[in-house]
Amino acid sequence: MKLAAAWICVTLAAPLAGQGVRPDADPRIVKLVAAVSPDRLRQLSERLVSFGTRSTLSDTMSATRGVGAARRWIHRELSQYRRLQVSFDSHRLVPTGRITREVELRNVVAILPGRSPRRVYISGHYDTVNLGPGGQTRLNTGGANPQASAAFNHDNDAPGANDDGSGTILTMELARVFAESDLEFDATLVFILWAGEEQGLFGSMAHAQNLAAAKVEVTANFNNDIVGNSLGGNGVVDAETVRVYSLGPEDSPHRQLARYIQRLAATYVPSHRIRLMAREDRFGRGSDHSSFTAFDFPAVVFRESNENFARQHTAEDKIEGVDFGYLAQNARVNAAGAATVALAPPAPIVAGDRGASVSRIPSGYDATLTWRAAPGAAAYRVYWRDTWTNDWQHSQVVGNVTTFTLPNVNIDDWVFGVSAIGPDGHESLVSAYVSPPRRMQEVKVIKP
Ligand SMILES: [Zn+2]
Repeated sequence: MKLAAAWICVTLAAPLAGQGVRPDADPRIVKLVAAVSPDRLRQLSERLVSFGTRSTLSDTMSATRGVGAARRWIHRELSQYRRLQVSFDSHRLVPTGRITREVELRNVVAILPGRSPRRVYISGHYDTVNLGPGGQTRLNTGGANPQASAAFNHDNDAPGANDDGSGTILTMELARVFAESDLEFDATLVFILWAGEEQGLFGSMAHAQNLAAAKVEVTANFNNDIVGNSLGGNGVVDAETVRVYSLGPEDSPHRQLARYIQRLAATYVPSHRIRLMAREDRFGRGSDHSSFTAFDFPAVVFRESNENFARQHTAEDKIEGVDFGYLAQNARVNAAGAATVALAPPAPIVAGDRGASVSRIPSGYDATLTWRAAPGAAAYRVYWRDTWTNDWQHSQVVGNVTTFTLPNVNIDDWVFGVSAIGPDGHESLVSAYVSPPRRMQEVKVIKP
């Protein structure tokens, strides 16, 4: 990245760093990423689809079929991995929209405690739906959603191998890989399988509401929904890229998380390309990350690059439509981002508090950034970019300080951010300095 001439005269204690240079890979994260196994993913997938349907209102008593048997198996499986605290996160729902009778939703949760209670989430939804012949293709082409009817059949086969069996087993495999690593994380990792997604994100919303009410600090949510198919319904094969959708505006915490994932993927999974999508999700489609963004918890959703809509939400969403090598690559990208952000200190706080801001001091023509110290930080890294670009262009590691001045830099012409770096070099998300939109007052005029 080329520095503008004006920046070169900025002389500071720390050397210029990070101008497009890839950070050194941590061998412990390399090992963790390499532990993701396509064979394990296939085994998990075979078991998961064997329950026939995981539809929200399907049978809960059978030991072999339906949503009850499936969630009990997920719980049992996760309980076999060491270091994890596994539980059901249960919510009793009154009939609402496509939930046509009272039902108990159970998210399955596996927690790997860190030094700090702040949380990093990896998630997928385990419930499925079969909308009948045509499935998602019919909805895409203007058909009505039959789920709203009480007569909707929840016992039809709905294997959901890809939607969202792929996100489910990705999350389960990462629970194993993280738990079996010898790493002690700063953040608490939460591997969670959502219920009730197909009727309106109910399981994740009930969970996120409780997080917000309890004032739990959430560092990130890596949500995965439809991430296992590499052969598009249009015939295009793509096993080398994945889409990451994030809600704006440009400097929202969700966009910072998306940029972060792209950077870490370039370090740890360079054979896979991250396609950042500057929107919340695909047109007319949604997923559980929106339950997190609703409360300003940083969240993104991973989506395969080329979907096959003809399989989605039908009895044909079978294991043959899942490419386990591709799914493993997507799991590795999740692993690299989640491990790094969980090893790093929390991001510095730059807004909404006394002494945390961007200003023109001391000369009136300088850029002075201040931030609140992040617990455990050994250094900070300041970022900046032209206001009209969408990714950081320049960065500089500064010492263990909480203020930094770029002389003769006009704060109106650049976006600034700052991250915290831990003693082992792991870096937090970037906190951006944003100015809220101007609040206009109504003008009172005398009518002629
Ligand atoms: Zn889904």
